[in-house]
Amino acid sequence: MTKNQIQQLQAIFSSQNVLTEIEDMIAYSYDASHVEIRPEAVVFATTTEQVSQLMKFAYREKIPVTPRGQGSGLSGGSVPFKKGIVLCMDKMKRIIDFDPANRLITVEAGLTTSDIDPIAAKANLFYPPDPGSVTFSTIGGNVAENAGGLRGLKYGVTKDYVKMMKVVLPQGEIVILGNKCVKHVAGFNMEGIFVGSEGLLGIMTEVTLALLPIPEHRESALAIFNSLDGAAQAVSDIIASGVTPSTMEFMDNATINAIQNFKDCGLPRDGAAVLLIETDGEKNSAIAEMAKVEQQVKKNDIRDFVRAKTSTERDRLFEGRRVALNALASVRPNLILEDATVMRSKLPEMVRGITRIAEKYQLQIGIFGHAGDGNLHPTFLLDMRDKDEMARTEKGVAELFQLAIDLEGTISGEHGIGLEKKPFLQNQIGSEGIRLLQNIKRTFDPLNLLNPGKMFDMPAEQTA
Ligand SMILES: Cc1cc2nc3c(=O)[nH]c(=O)nc-3n(C[C@H](O)[C@H](O)[C@H](O)COP(=O)(O)OP(=O)(O)OC[C@H]3O[C@@H](n4cnc5c(N)ncnc54)[C@H](O)[C@@H]3O)c2cc1C
Repeated sequence: MTKNQIQQLQAIFSSQNVLTEIEDMIAYSYDASHVEIRPEAVVFATTTEQVSQLMKFAYREKIPVTPRGQGSGLSGGSVPFKKGIVLCMDKMKRIIDFDPANRLITVEAGLTTSDIDPIAAKANLFYPPDPGSVTFSTIGGNVAENAGGLRGLKYGVTKDYVKMMKVVLPQGEIVILGNKCVKHVAGFNMEGIFVGSEGLLGIMTEVTLALLPIPEHRESALAIFNSLDGAAQAVSDIIASGVTPSTMEFMDNATINAIQNFKDCGLPRDGAAVLLIETDGEKNSAIAEMAKVEQQVKKNDIRDFVRAKTSTERDRLFEGRRVALNALASVRPNLILEDATVMRSKLPEMVRGITRIAEKYQLQIGIFGHAGDGNLHPTFLLDMRDKDEMARTEKGVAELFQLAIDLEGTISGEHGIGLEKKPFLQNQIGSEGIRLLQNIKRTFDPLNLLNPGKMFDMPAEQTA
């Protein structure tokens, strides 16, 4: 970027909110995936107006802009593929409005997800979507990726809670999409298009989210299985029995041992797999539902069913699940975390398929994830410097995606496409699907300057 362009950025954001030093460019060159590309400048927005001015400047000067929350994304979404400017949203953290009567909260997009609950709890409310990254990811990043979480099975994902948003479009216009009413059908479901848009269509600066009453009671238990198949079949049986637990998390033996080596969370090292299960709601119904869960798991090669008797015991089990990724990351120099997802009835087939892939390519794959909603995280543990192992892993990953598609599932349940899964999107949605996405992108961003190069390629003449 030229000196004059940097001065223009400083005029919009003030000098302390514009970085251009090499160390800073390195710090903002990656997210939680594997791609690393340095930007030419990093800016920190504190107002919607600044974001609007930035996009007008970027369009005038034809400079790519990549929005960034906390960079915890797992698909390369906030990596500046075409360099240019990284726009950090994490200083926009204000609570704009808390409206308990309508069970709504309006926040700036850079607010950390877990910062909502202490405010909501004052009116006995909570915000259900709880990605494993809840203590560091931002609401803007959650909306842009349509993040899921441990409670997705019963409570759904981010898209189920987004009511309204303030968005800066790629050419700088500021628009309000959606509405605070329970029902709203005036025009297209525009806020819906922005959920999962991965920063390609506009920059969210404020979001209004729905809240729910905190459940009266929670029952938590750990089901320990002698086989992977037993655990996968139990998930399917529990759902078929009519119970909807609020959480049903799966961890295989590799994951259990990685967690126990990382931090003692009381998980059984010799279990082939465990399910961490929680039911919630009115006290009697949560207890009755857990009794039904116990009946179902006991049909499936179970070794033990341990109930958490205190909140400390429950927190310890949940902590185990929350540190799973960090724990697996400490096993080998690198990991590749996937989020292929299938319908719950196909979970046993999916787990068997992943085991087959591991054997075929001699790979170390830890499996954990939100099994209750069919969303597994097969995690390839490897040393990327080992070319042979890397080549085998790439084949294993491609086969995993095909397996998910063959089982009528999806290559991504919650982490998005970004750069990591871009080569596989066409297999999922076909060339007509890609063309539709390109046309939508062109309508919003005719010069392809907002987060270019992600999710799908634009025809050559359109690229920045
Ligand atoms: C340990 C760990 C556990 C995780 N667990 C889960 C999980 O359980 N469920 C899950 O779904 N994900 C999970 N993730 C992935 C990640 O945390 C989520 O995708 C999260 O939503 C990303 O938020 P972020 O603020 O870090 O966004 P970033 O990674 O910075 O950005 C993600 C995408 O959103 C875009 N973006 C960011 N802010 C805005 C904005 N204001 N307007 C427009 N676009 C924007 C970026 O351009 C990028 O494309 C996990 C990640 C880690 C490291």
